[in-house]
Amino acid sequence: MKVTIIGAGMVGSSIAYATMIKGIAREIALVDINKELAEGQAMDLSHGNAYVRPTKIHGGDYDVSSDSDVVVITAGRPQKGGESRLQLLKDNARIVKEAVTKSLSFSKEPVFIIVSNPVDVLTWVAWKASGLPRNRIIGSGTTLDTARLRQSIADHCQLDPRNVHAYVLGEHGDSEIVNWSHADIAGIPLTDFCRNCRRDCEGDLFQKLFEETKNAAYRIIEKKGSTFYGIGLAVSKVLSTIFNNQHSVLTVSTVHSEFEGLKDVPFSVPTILGREGVERILKVGLSSEELKGLSNSAGVIANAIESLRDEEGLA
Ligand code: NAD
Repeated sequence: MKVTIIGAGMVGSSIAYATMIKGIAREIALVDINKELAEGQAMDLSHGNAYVRPTKIHGGDYDVSSDSDVVVITAGRPQKGGESRLQLLKDNARIVKEAVTKSLSFSKEPVFIIVSNPVDVLTWVAWKASGLPRNRIIGSGTTLDTARLRQSIADHCQLDPRNVHAYVLGEHGDSEIVNWSHADIAGIPLTDFCRNCRRDCEGDLFQKLFEETKNAAYRIIEKKGSTFYGIGLAVSKVLSTIFNNQHSVLTVSTVHSEFEGLKDVPFSVPTILGREGVERILKVGLSSEELKGLSNSAGVIANAIESLRDEEGLA
């Protein structure tokens, strides 16, 4: 199967690298407004082919994307000093809209995976611009945040993160929440596990782990400028789930038709993915406080979408 990645910068190339190493796709195409960059990344990646299961890799303009099964969008521009988040949102919304429209003239009904930020709002932009059914538009959502949370819990409990089942829900951003009430390790509720693990699990441990997760990107950006390896692996997992029809549960962002009185708002909850994109959005158990938090988070996204409505051609 073929994947095209639009935006061949740090995130796009990390997704390509992880996808190539894992042997997930038969073909990877990289597209960037900076054609030289896309071509250079493709050359560099293809020089590793002798050491993995070989993948056909090209870089260039949209024509290299023809007949893709999945299109991943990481194109965007960074925030400039002193500008508002809203201005960045409008510019990235235009970039995503253009990427979706151009991709559709080369590939028939691909599944889109949106990674550019703010990812939830841009997932809605892609859904609107594509005219495709909701199941074919997926935001990377809180896949990365969930992996960060599982790693933090695993570090604390001295466990393999793959045995930690805890999910970050809502916005990929400051209003996200954790459904602690249903977090477990090997079927043991996390609170019971903590009671018996003889580590320092007292006090505000859960709040501390949540803050660590929520602020991870800020801390990484302070130290190295941007984040790309974690999201590269997270998106490669979404790709392998689609390409291999794995029915894995991942916290991707999808446009929910209705939630707590809000219509067509994208946010993340555990979702089953397969060959055609979203197979089923799971109804997760939430405490009343968690439901309040998730409604608030969906409201934050809905308000940002509302701010685009006056912009010609965006909503
Ligand atoms: P980057 O600047 O390295 O790469 C962005 C690329 O997009 C650049 O190469 C640029 O030339 C290209 N681009 C810009 N406009 C374009 C257009 N109109 N058409 C095609 N290509 C275009 O940035 P990055 O570090 O790779 O980050 C990319 C995006 O991913 C950002 O929006 C970032 O916030 C986001 N991100 C999301 C997550 C997540 O969890 N969802 C995590 C990390 C980063």
